[in-house]
Amino acid sequence: MNDLRPASLILRTRRNHALEHATIAVLFEREGQRGGVAALSDPWGFGILSSFDSDVVGEAAAEALHRLRAGQANLAITDLCGSNLIVTGVLAAVTVMVAGRGKWRNLPTAITAAAFASVAAKPLGRWVQQNLTTDTTGMRTLQIRSVQGQRLSGTHTATRVNISGG
Ligand SMILES: [Zn+2]
Repeated sequence: MNDLRPASLILRTRRNHALEHATIAVLFEREGQRGGVAALSDPWGFGILSSFDSDVVGEAAAEALHRLRAGQANLAITDLCGSNLIVTGVLAAVTVMVAGRGKWRNLPTAITAAAFASVAAKPLGRWVQQNLTTDTTGMRTLQIRSVQGQRLSGTHTATRVNISGG
C-alpha cells in the first residue's frame, strides 16, 4: 500500500484502471447506459462521476472484480476510455503535420489523412489500453476497501472506490 516506487504506482494505476472500465461495463449492463460518465484512476483506486448511486457503483465494482478474476479481461477494454481520445488527437495531429507539411494547399490531403487517422485510432486505442494503460493480471490481490459517495448538485454523484493490494 505504501510502496511509492514509480513502477508500483504505475502497475497499481493500470490495474485500478482495468477495474474502473469493468465497473462501468457492469453498471451499463445492469442499469442501462444513462447520462455521461466520467472516471479517473490512480494508484489508490478510482473515482466515478455519474448519475448512478454510490451503492450501485460499489455493487458493480464488486461484480467487476469477481468477473475479472474469473478471466473476463474483455471487460477492461472500452471504446469510451479517455485515453482513446488522446490517441485519436495525437494520431490525427501527427498525420496532418506529416501530410500537410504546414502548407494550406495540402489541406485536402491533410483532411483525408486525419480521417484515416481517426479510423485507425479505434483499434489503436484498444491496443494502448490492453498493453499500456490497463493490466488484468494480479486481480486476486486487489481488494475493494471502501466506497464513498457524495451527491453533487442536480442528478450526479461522485463515487470514490478505494482499492488495496495489487
Ligand atoms: Zn479509461
